[in-house]
Amino acid sequence: MKIAILPGDGIGPEIVAQAVKVLNVLGESFELETAPVGGAGYAAHGHPLPEATLALAKAADAVLFGAVGDYQYDNLERSLRPEQAILGLRKQLGLFANLRPAILYPELAGASTLKPEVVSGLDILIIRELTGDIYFGQPRGVRECPDGPFKGQREGFDTMRYAEGEIRRIAHVAFQAAQKRDKRLTSVDKANVLETFQFWKDIVIDVHKEYPDVALEHMYVDNAAMQLVRAPKKFDVIVTGNMFGDILSDAAAMLTGSIGMLPSASLDANNKGLYEPSHGSAPDIAGKGIANPLATILSAAMMLRFSLNKPEQADRIENAVKAVLAQGLRTADIYEAGTTKVGTEEMGNAVVKALV
Ligand code: NAD
Repeated sequence: MKIAILPGDGIGPEIVAQAVKVLNVLGESFELETAPVGGAGYAAHGHPLPEATLALAKAADAVLFGAVGDYQYDNLERSLRPEQAILGLRKQLGLFANLRPAILYPELAGASTLKPEVVSGLDILIIRELTGDIYFGQPRGVRECPDGPFKGQREGFDTMRYAEGEIRRIAHVAFQAAQKRDKRLTSVDKANVLETFQFWKDIVIDVHKEYPDVALEHMYVDNAAMQLVRAPKKFDVIVTGNMFGDILSDAAAMLTGSIGMLPSASLDANNKGLYEPSHGSAPDIAGKGIANPLATILSAAMMLRFSLNKPEQADRIENAVKAVLAQGLRTADIYEAGTTKVGTEEMGNAVVKALV
């Protein structure tokens, strides 16, 4: 199995190196090939997503991505900015399903802004549709307002839309993910106001017929936002559209209070995926050896589970991460008095050592 390793910019190379170290000691015969992306792609080949990097990502069974973005590229024209690489990869690889687990290890309960009893042991999975909805719907733009009290003025407008097939494929991903967990799925919509989301709900109900072992509930997005901060542990898997998912997944990520701990996966129709930490390239701490590599290491675990069909290896990595936290090892972002502060490399080495 071939894995494309795209470290990117900022802390990307430092954290990806730790995940690669972990992959290399699992005893599997993965073929790892590295290529530049983002600012590093621009520096090497004049484009954030060089042709050879895209070809590698297409040919591989999975992609492990660090992060892209650096202040030095902020003045480039938009199409050449590092961040275009991740958008290009999502589009070119057809990555329509974004999976973001929000897990709060009991040892880190103090890092959340919510009370420990509300979030300790939190383990939810948000599945966001990534390539449709109002973010991509046409037409869009600024035009002359055709009617109503503001007739004749300029108005901005976008189009919310979902094709049946788009809803069906994300619903299948969600039901199948729920089957691997606690078998509970919450579909988040705004069916009371939006035609698009009444249609969404109807299709999700239809797809549910194929997954009778999964308990399905529907929730309006405003209520979901409230429940996420009131009683987040009641959720198991949440599935929703692009815009609602954008907002809810960031809220859920922050429940854990530790951006350095959160992995993510973006999958295509065949479970090929791109795996990356939920955080960015953190240029403020790049090169200092203090970045938390655990989100990237946990992204590698997701890659083993969802794309490479090695769930037992994913469990090994996740258990090793739990073990190093139980040992009291912490990078600066999750450090608390009474624990042991370690750097990026030490944390990676500790995970390797804790693999059993
Ligand atoms: P960021 O996530 O990079 O950083 C936000 C804060 O969190 C910073 O203080 C940073 O030091 C800290 N942080 C992030 N990851 C950390 C880790 N692993 N360990 C310890 N601390 C960590 O977000 P930002 O500052 O808004 O963006 C920086 C750059 O990253 C920008 O160029 C942005 O466009 C880019 N970005 C890229 C991606 C991606 O590659 N998918 C995602 C988000 C942002």
